[in-house]
Amino acid sequence: MKAAVFQEVGKPLGIETVTDPQPQAGEVIIQVKACGICGTDLHATVDPTMLVPAGTVLGHEFSGEIVEIGPGVPGDWKKGDRLCTLPFIGCGDCVPCRTGEPWQCPGKGIIGFDVPGGFAEYARVHANEAIRLPETVSWQEGALVEPLAVSLHAVRLAGKVEGKRVLVIGAGAIGLGVANWCNFFGARDVIVSERDPNRARQAQKFGATGFVDARGEAAAEFQRLTGGAPELIFECVGVPGLLARCVEMAAYGAEIVVVGFCMQPDTFVPALAMLKEISFKFSIGNNKAEFQFIADMMAADRINMRPLITDLVSLSDLPTAFEALRRPVHQCKVLWEPK
Ligand SMILES: [Zn+2]
Ligand SMILES: [Zn+2]
Repeated sequence: MKAAVFQEVGKPLGIETVTDPQPQAGEVIIQVKACGICGTDLHATVDPTMLVPAGTVLGHEFSGEIVEIGPGVPGDWKKGDRLCTLPFIGCGDCVPCRTGEPWQCPGKGIIGFDVPGGFAEYARVHANEAIRLPETVSWQEGALVEPLAVSLHAVRLAGKVEGKRVLVIGAGAIGLGVANWCNFFGARDVIVSERDPNRARQAQKFGATGFVDARGEAAAEFQRLTGGAPELIFECVGVPGLLARCVEMAAYGAEIVVVGFCMQPDTFVPALAMLKEISFKFSIGNNKAEFQFIADMMAADRINMRPLITDLVSLSDLPTAFEALRRPVHQCKVLWEPK
């Protein structure tokens, strides 16, 4: 099969013919129908602390159709079934795997990092971590379930959202997903802070009630729009300095949920956070119940996340689209799909 394969730092992915995947116990092989590029994929091809080895096939945000069933696959999965998957191949046997939380499985492999991913025509999926895609949910939407589950997980971790003045820092795919879920769960205000005004305007399609310019007087502007300071803040960018910024902007008793993936030290003055009795939470991953919830909400037309997709490319154009995302202009979610 054809795959877009990581070569080395500074070189684009290469389109190569690689060995077809073979299903192991509990696994199915899918034909990839749509797969998104994630910020983590970009990190993994440049950042020394998380660099993947040459030959890695990235891609963990995908949907696909079953073309082969391996031995011992549980349930009634059959060829032709439509699915999307959590980005893990778990052991299927430990308590986290059995309860739909394979992120915590000590033996898990991460798809697109430890196990070849969706930047290929076919991929291995462990049936235990897969979710059936309803017929009315398109392949493209199916590829959005994983990033939306990262956002949903963060919002659920925050606990109570309803009635709150919420600030979402960053209008990338994760920030827009967070805005969507905050609106969905009844926030009073969902204000997105963003440096790029075009991106910020996009946020209205996903439930944002307003936006502030991150380069300007964001705190004063937030106050003007909502009548108060943020009671709940989601940091969805992941660059140093933002934790201190969150503490500075937060209301007394506020909660700050960190979803932005930052690989560098970031400092803030604890006393300032203490004076406001702020609590911090750090969110990563997602679980099976969240995947199912999102697929169900898409099928029921309760959410419309299709506008997240700004670019659709073929597998052969994926390496160019991947490199372009290092300096995005208009792009939000870029998917590859077979012709
Ligand atoms: Zn991702
Ligand atoms: Zn396990």
